[in-house]
Amino acid sequence: MHETLDRTVEIRTFNTISEIEALPGFKKENPVSPKNYKHLLGDYFLSDEVKCCLLKDNDKLCNEGHKWGFVAVLADNSITLVGNDCAQTKFNGESRLSADRTKYLNQKKHEEGLERLRALVEQKDSALKEVLQVRTDLAMVQRRVHAMREKLGPQTMRHLESIARTGAYVLSVTGVTIKEYTDKKGKKKTDRRTQRMTLGTIANTSFLLDEKYRDVLHNLSDVKKAYDEAEKIEQNVTTLNSMLSQKRWISLSWPKQALFNLLNKSESLRAVI
Ligand SMILES: [Zn+2]
Repeated sequence: MHETLDRTVEIRTFNTISEIEALPGFKKENPVSPKNYKHLLGDYFLSDEVKCCLLKDNDKLCNEGHKWGFVAVLADNSITLVGNDCAQTKFNGESRLSADRTKYLNQKKHEEGLERLRALVEQKDSALKEVLQVRTDLAMVQRRVHAMREKLGPQTMRHLESIARTGAYVLSVTGVTIKEYTDKKGKKKTDRRTQRMTLGTIANTSFLLDEKYRDVLHNLSDVKKAYDEAEKIEQNVTTLNSMLSQKRWISLSWPKQALFNLLNKSESLRAVI
C-alpha cells in the first residue's frame, strides 16, 4: 500500500490547554472562518473540553465544547481553536482547512504507525533470541516425544495419533466372549458376543503429531521474516527522511502493513505455542 504524504505537514499534538495559551498570538474566542484561515499548527487532545471558535453564518461563535480539535493560524497570524467536528463538517470539502485536516491526520497516522514499528524493530534482537530459545526447547520436546513413541510401539501410536487427529478422545476396549455349545442335533457351535467398554478419555495428545511441530517452526520463521521486513521499511523511511530537505512530495511505503504482519505473526505464534 502506498500513500502520498505531504512532508511539509508537521505533527504537533497539544495535550494541555496551557501549552496552547502560551503560544505567541493565541487569542481566546478568536473567530475562524474559511475567509481568514491560513494553516494548521497542530491538533489538541485534551482531558477537558474547550470551546470551538468557528464563526457561524449568523456571525456568532460555535462555542461547542470539544476535547479533540485543531490549532489554527489565521491570516493576521493570530492563533485559535476549532473542534474536529467543525473542521470536518462545517468547512466544505473544498476548503483549505478541510483538506489540511485530512493531510494532517494522514501524516499523524503514518508517523504513529512508524513509531510503533520502530519500537518493535528495537526489540528485534531480544525477540529473535526468544525465537531461538523456543526452537531449542521445541527440538528437545520433539526428541523426548520420539523416544516415547518408540516405547509405546507402532500400534498404540497409530491409535493415539488417530485420537489426536480426530478429536475422538474416548478410550474403549472391546471384549469378545466365545462360548462353544452343542445344538439339539449334536452339532458343535460357537456363540460369539462382543461388548464395548469405555475406559475413560484421553485429551491433548496433539503433542504427538509431527505436523504440530512443523506449524510452530513455520510460524517461528515467519516471525523472523516479519521482523526483517519491518526493519527494512524502518530503514528506508529513515533514509528517505534524510533526503527530504529537497523534496516536498514523496511516496512512502505505508508502515501499517508491516506492522500488521509483525503483530499477526507474533499472535499466531503465541496461539500455536
Ligand atoms: Zn464548532
